[in-house]
Amino acid sequence: MPKTKDALNSGSIKEPAPHLNSESPFESMMERFRFAADILNLDPGVFKYLSSHEKTVIVSVPITMDDGRIEVFQGYRVIHNSILGPGKGGLRYSNDVNLEEVKALASWMTWKCAVVNVPFGGAKGGVRVDPSKLSIHELERLTRRYTANMFDVFGPERDIPAPDMGTNEQTMAWIMDTYSMKSQRTETAVVTGKPIILGGSKGRKEATGRGVVTTTLAGLNKLNISPSNATIVIQGFGNVGSVTAQLIHEQGSRVIAIADITGGYYNKEGIDIPAALEYSLANGYSLAGFKGAEPISNKDLLELECDVLIPAAREDQIDKNNAPNIRAKIIVEAANGPTTANADQILEDKGIMVIPDILANAGGVTVSYFEWVQDRHGYFWTEDRVNRRLNRMMREAFDNLFKVSEKYNITLRQAAYVYAIDRVATTLKLRGIYA
Ligand code: NAD
Repeated sequence: MPKTKDALNSGSIKEPAPHLNSESPFESMMERFRFAADILNLDPGVFKYLSSHEKTVIVSVPITMDDGRIEVFQGYRVIHNSILGPGKGGLRYSNDVNLEEVKALASWMTWKCAVVNVPFGGAKGGVRVDPSKLSIHELERLTRRYTANMFDVFGPERDIPAPDMGTNEQTMAWIMDTYSMKSQRTETAVVTGKPIILGGSKGRKEATGRGVVTTTLAGLNKLNISPSNATIVIQGFGNVGSVTAQLIHEQGSRVIAIADITGGYYNKEGIDIPAALEYSLANGYSLAGFKGAEPISNKDLLELECDVLIPAAREDQIDKNNAPNIRAKIIVEAANGPTTANADQILEDKGIMVIPDILANAGGVTVSYFEWVQDRHGYFWTEDRVNRRLNRMMREAFDNLFKVSEKYNITLRQAAYVYAIDRVATTLKLRGIYA
């Protein structure tokens, strides 16, 4: 018999989560993982297996700085689990990178890939460095040496990095070239998020926002709200938020508020999104001074009455303090970890549908999968084909989670973890433990 929501309090699986800040998105993720494992009656041995990390590599990355000094940086790569396929996950350059965070983000990738049915496992990497302090030549040397040190870890069938905080298309091009030089053949499929001319995929830049819109439309459909009658609030106007705003606007929805780090902008008649995009582009990707709306604080923006609230900026935006004031009917988590675990129950009690991050923002990893497929075939798809296949996979993933949420009478977030863990655990059972 499946267990119910009470499983959360039953505490039948008591493995400690990685020790992280109790409000951190990673601790929230582990809490949700334990809940889902309990619902599935997961074998304690399998639980232990899925809580551990398959491979953890720490390397020192020495480089010669432009002034001739030698500097040494710490680099990490963690593969959480490769039961479903090669490791997949971003590479982050930041001063805050640490092993616990990389491990948590790697597990997160395992669940995200499983939710959208892409044949990848979860991985993540990082170098503890402030990239803004390095010249372009120093960054290139850092990336090439890190890649050389990870030569036995990376590979199209082993582990495939992608851009994340502090890294970009150029970083991926350097990794691809270094890996190719060392293996004496061009290996485009070793990274995703490359420039299109080097084997990147059309539609990759817009993929996360596009996936957010597909899942938003699926959520609206379940609540019988027509997109053309829907009011939308979006926090964050970067890569994900701005594409989401543009595509949902094209669906005829009324985007009544947008925000970036400079503050919120509210117009209950609907913001002219093409004008906001043009303004932000001309203004160094900032909305500061945008005239088509009244200023509103980021705090008030989250509490506006609307059909859909889309946090697309950063983690921990909705917590137990502001959750009681949220007036949206649907929250679509475009950002990673925008809701803390202790807000989940409050939102559920209020009857708000939450489309969880590991589904809502999985459009990026889905098109990364398409990029890898195209590279391996040496045959590249039109943007239209990429978008159609992305929409179909996101829609199917939403429907799968919706069915699981009905079957167990749980939220979509809980369903996402149940679905993902079940998929990985079932595959593990069939493959067995190699000895
Ligand atoms: P970005 O840096 O391009 O944009 C971030 C936006 O959020 C900017 O407009 C910034 O001004 C705004 N912002 C920052 N702090 C804010 C605050 N306190 N209040 C309001 N706005 C604030 O980043 P992005 O690539 O759009 O990513 C946004 C989120 O989506 C992150 O959580 C990221 O991890 C997640 N995500 C991104 C992708 C992707 O493909 N880019 C994929 C999956 C998840």
